[in-house]
Amino acid sequence: MSLIHIPSYAAEVIHELEHMGFSAYVVGGCVRDSLLGQKPTDWDVCTDATPDEMLQVFRQWRLFKTGLKHGTITVRSHGRNVEVTTFRTDGGYSDNRHPDAVRFVPHVQDDLARRDFTINAMAYNDRDGLVDVFGGQQDLVDSTLRCVGEPDVRFQEDGLRILRALRFAARLSFGIETETAYAIRRNRLLLENISAERIFKELQGILIAPGAGDMLTAFPEVFSVILPELAGLVGNSDVDGVDRWTFTIRAVQSAPAGDFPNRLAMLLHQLPLRAVRSTLAHLKSDNSTARYVTTLLEFLPLPLPVTRPEMRRFIGATSREMAQHIINARGVIDKLHRHSPLATRTASLLLAEVLESPPAYAVRHLAIGGNDLMEHHLAQGPLIGQILEQLLREVQDESLPNSRLALLHRASELSHP
Ligand code: ATP
Ligand code: MG
Repeated sequence: MSLIHIPSYAAEVIHELEHMGFSAYVVGGCVRDSLLGQKPTDWDVCTDATPDEMLQVFRQWRLFKTGLKHGTITVRSHGRNVEVTTFRTDGGYSDNRHPDAVRFVPHVQDDLARRDFTINAMAYNDRDGLVDVFGGQQDLVDSTLRCVGEPDVRFQEDGLRILRALRFAARLSFGIETETAYAIRRNRLLLENISAERIFKELQGILIAPGAGDMLTAFPEVFSVILPELAGLVGNSDVDGVDRWTFTIRAVQSAPAGDFPNRLAMLLHQLPLRAVRSTLAHLKSDNSTARYVTTLLEFLPLPLPVTRPEMRRFIGATSREMAQHIINARGVIDKLHRHSPLATRTASLLLAEVLESPPAYAVRHLAIGGNDLMEHHLAQGPLIGQILEQLLREVQDESLPNSRLALLHRASELSHP
């Protein structure tokens, strides 16, 4: 039995094309993942039908023409999208990223030749079986990532392939073939021409992968191009005699695979906060990731709370969830430094204890509000906020109970000293 089982919604797309006299194959990631015994996320189809012919074949189907210029249509089949692309070669790449022109070609082999890596350059259909002209199957067996064709040429056509290479190798825990690896290093400056959004997305793919640490170890000079702030860590050994870059990699690997915000925070954790902020800005990070990383790294170097009042203020300055994340991250760093886990264990217990009692982290948790102060003629204007802040401090310190009566009484003392 073939390892490649095309789901019926995609098989129907192929049959429709074959029925009209065209050839069609599933291609790329779905073939690779099937041969690896993994379930593909989506099934892409390639065909010798030209864009006009595809529109004719699928005229009764729901379809989207978004990629038509590059020969791609998306057809809706049993509620799923299937991208169907005419066999093509890409013309020159004067901007190192976008082909100047695409040319439609009659043979699947020519389409496979434009693809980036041998493991991504295989096609399959039930009629012809596997079409593997670049040795992709063997490279899968050998766990090797290798460019299709001349690596230097392929990276110069499209610099983003440098990061795609690291992403696939990290995700599959593959080694990178020697010539491909040299070309990655030689051509790394091409990444300066790639948009921040694309770089950020690939960086995310690399960092969440199981083999992220191997790529950070093998290609520091590539990461120094996309994250120039990190360059100073490489070969700089003042963390317990360990190279700072090595320490950074260990920290990244201590966060679970798949957990992008924490892995990114660990990647940046040795930078000054200023550099963290500028890195996230120039990477065009999404806001929620940027907020998470900066908050975590702002508090990471500070002493952890050791009393309930300190813990309440800590939660007030961060959030319940952030407080736990910061404590966890500290645990990771302390462990790497072989420091005692006592501080983080105590802080975790303290956090749990404080979270069990009624919340008092923000003015809104007080049993009275600004209206009460006005109704009782205790304060007006900015004084309201000042009094509430003072009440919160005293409640957090446990010198004042959080009850209406106690708070009103104390507020009247504060307003008529
Ligand atoms: P993923 O599971 O990450 O989606 P994929 O192999 O499907 O992996 P895509 O980025 O979706 O990757 O691209 C689909 C296919 O198109 C690839 O397998 C490859 O053959 C080809 N491809 C995509 N991007 C490039 C590129 N920049 N250069 C050359 N070929 C590419
Ligand atoms: Mg894909």
